[in-house]
Amino acid sequence: MDKNELKQEVNKRRTFAIISHPDAGKTTITEQMLYFGGVIRSAGTVKAKKSGQFATSDWMEIEKKRGISVTSSVMQFHYRNKDINILDTPGHEDFSEDTYRTLMAVDAAVMVIDSAKGIEPQTKKLFKVVKKRGIPIFTFMNKLDRDGRDPLDLIAELEELLNIEGCAMNWPIGMGKELKGLYDMRNNRLELYRKDGDDRFLPLNDEGKLAEHNPIEDESVYDQALGEVELVKEAGNQFDRDKIMAGNQTPVFFGSALTNFGVETFLNSFLDMAPAPAAHKEQDSDEIVQPDDPEFSAFVFKIQANMNPNHRDRIAFVRICSGEFERGIDVTLQRTGKVLRLNNATEFMSDQRETVKTAVAGDIVGLYDTGNFQIGDTIYTGKKSVQFEDLPQFTPEMFMEVQAKNVMKQKSFHKGMQQLVQEGAVQLYKKYTTNDYILGAVGQLQFEVFQFRMKNEYNCDVVMNPIGSRIARWVDPEQLDQSMSSTRNMLVKDLDDKPLFLFENRFAENWFVSKYPDVKLSSKL
Ligand code: GDP
Repeated sequence: MDKNELKQEVNKRRTFAIISHPDAGKTTITEQMLYFGGVIRSAGTVKAKKSGQFATSDWMEIEKKRGISVTSSVMQFHYRNKDINILDTPGHEDFSEDTYRTLMAVDAAVMVIDSAKGIEPQTKKLFKVVKKRGIPIFTFMNKLDRDGRDPLDLIAELEELLNIEGCAMNWPIGMGKELKGLYDMRNNRLELYRKDGDDRFLPLNDEGKLAEHNPIEDESVYDQALGEVELVKEAGNQFDRDKIMAGNQTPVFFGSALTNFGVETFLNSFLDMAPAPAAHKEQDSDEIVQPDDPEFSAFVFKIQANMNPNHRDRIAFVRICSGEFERGIDVTLQRTGKVLRLNNATEFMSDQRETVKTAVAGDIVGLYDTGNFQIGDTIYTGKKSVQFEDLPQFTPEMFMEVQAKNVMKQKSFHKGMQQLVQEGAVQLYKKYTTNDYILGAVGQLQFEVFQFRMKNEYNCDVVMNPIGSRIARWVDPEQLDQSMSSTRNMLVKDLDDKPLFLFENRFAENWFVSKYPDVKLSSKL
């Protein structure tokens, strides 16, 4: 590929994640998108797959049970001359540090909100991570076919709870049983509910009025929507591209994923506005790597182990930051300086894995890994060394005491523990005085995966005792007095022997702060 071709290819890429609270409709909307992309023939396929009809290996047992799958963690499709990568961010107990790290590999985020529920906790958590990155966030208010909250309220809530301006791109005409359509300010048209094909669109004139006869019979519903649209136009946030690109304003679209209403309009508008792959900054330097730089570079943001326990293979998910990936290229692993030949890589389609031919900046590829990679690693071609910025560490919220069931298995216990911790699967702590092991994670699934892998890969049964959700706060060693510790604020140390308290809850933390006002606590290392 010459420089021009590369630039063109890169500019076609759109890489994003969908963030939402479980049940808001992420799977349903993803399916609709895959359907528009021609990847699946009918909606419902992704869920069917999730229920596990297509196990590929033994490791999948746990995935089947939990309904998650590696193949669905990245989905690629082609649509309207764009090559789209959707990265999954699992919810529920599947939630893990991977979920957060995945957000480091995207250029934009789609936030799906259940319009009856508004902003829910998981959305808020994921939103915070995305917001910090300063990437654009596009909002889809879902489930309009049900009675939901007042649309004006939903927009106001964005600002109140998430501190981001909402800018309506279209507006519901009715809701639930009364849903008639959308008043589409962006495209200056009406979009009628329960009408197929282009017939569903009616153009508006320059004053935003219907040029033709109004087919919406219920005038009061229509007039109310018009009144709200006027209000939003006059008093609402004005569309501001710069704010959107910086993640300070979110364009808001309404619709109903289940009835495929407003999803295509959303996808088209989103793809028009969403940015092409961004440049990436290097660690400890002002150097920026441009996506159309001909040298290949990428970073590992996720490692999924044991696709097949007999082979101990793992897949390292990499985000390409510049250049072109071709099978068989030699890359340097920055951390070790080692040169690796990348023969085996996969690209992800929603229902099969295909071997990658070429991929460019913006794309995600899965590299078969025999233990070379760690999360956060940079790989590159060319003479100049590249190291991208460290991926942020996320403070665990759930904790378990852990030990080997059989004391004779100490050796494999320690080995497994060390390797899994290195991979970033879980965080390891030790009790301050006894050195008993404590694991920390952001989601329950991480513990289950840990236990499963310890048994399958290291032949070691582990016993885990939950100590529940805790708030981790590092404390200055100079100020530490061991008598400050109690069961409500357990004293532990991290891998670097730095002390921290695990507070039972906010009360315990507040109590501590009022008792020891001079002791500095910090939520980060
Ligand atoms: P996820 O957990 O965010 O992936 O949510 P799903 O896509 O699995 O949806 C959760 C439930 O909400 C399912 O029963 C969907 O059929 C339903 N659902 C999704 N979108 C809509 C919608 O627009 N309207 C209605 N009424 N139900 C929806």
